[in-house]
Order: sequence, then C-alpha cells, then structure tokens
Amino acid sequence: MNLKQKQSSNVLVVVLEKGEELVSTLTSFCQENEIFGAWVSGIGAVSKAELALYDLSKKEYHGKKFSEPLEIASLSGNIAKLNGEATAHLHAVLSDKKMKTYAGHLSNAVVAATCEVRLEIFDAAITRKHNKEIGLNLING
Ligand code: ZN
Repeated sequence: MNLKQKQSSNVLVVVLEKGEELVSTLTSFCQENEIFGAWVSGIGAVSKAELALYDLSKKEYHGKKFSEPLEIASLSGNIAKLNGEATAHLHAVLSDKKMKTYAGHLSNAVVAATCEVRLEIFDAAITRKHNKEIGLNLING
C-alpha cells in the first residue's frame, strides 16, 4: 500500500496494490498511522474475496468465497478502535463479468489491478465494544 495524496487535513487517498489482502492491509495501515476513527469508501478490483452475512440468531457469519476477477463496484465501511487496536468493518458490492453483483460483509479480498480508498478521518476515535446480546463488537462511542 502506498499513500498517494493528501487531499485535505482529514481525508486521505490510499491505494492498495495487486496481491495485497484488502482488509488486513487497510487495518495495518490505520494501526501504523494511528487512525482509529475514519469512514471508508472505495473502488477497485479483486481476484478473490469472501463476503458474509451475519446470522443474528446463531451469532455467526455465513460466508461465500469467490475465486474469480470481480470489480469492487462499491466499498464502504469504517475504521474504529477495539481493545486499543485499529479494526476495519467493511462491506462491498462486487460485480462479475456479466455485471452480476454480490454484496455483503467483506471478510477478506485480494486486490487485483488496484483498490482506491478514501479515508475520511475523524479527530476522535470510534470505539467498539463486544455486545453479548448481538454477538458482535458494536460501536459504543
Ligand atoms: Zn458487516
């Protein structure tokens, strides 16, 4: 990943490169740069990905893996702080060669050509805490 441009005091454009795992690379970038509160949007392409749906009654994700070239028609989510560490919560709309789309919680993805991400960084951290009833680490401040 490399930092291409600083558009304003609180917005960064970051570019992920071919072969990088999207979720972990973005999370590491935020951890290293002490970004603990940001909103994410982006576009790009992946060579494989896993999307998921959270089953609230079972408190577990049901994932679907894709191993084909897909466009990231839309990437959205946020960066928050969980137990002192940066954490990314990302959703994506992916499209295949027939322009059929798949969408959901983005568990992981490998960048194909590129992935262009806009990070809107907040002055204060967004904090997450585990919620037993829901079974997820929800935003609590
Ligand atoms: Zn999600």
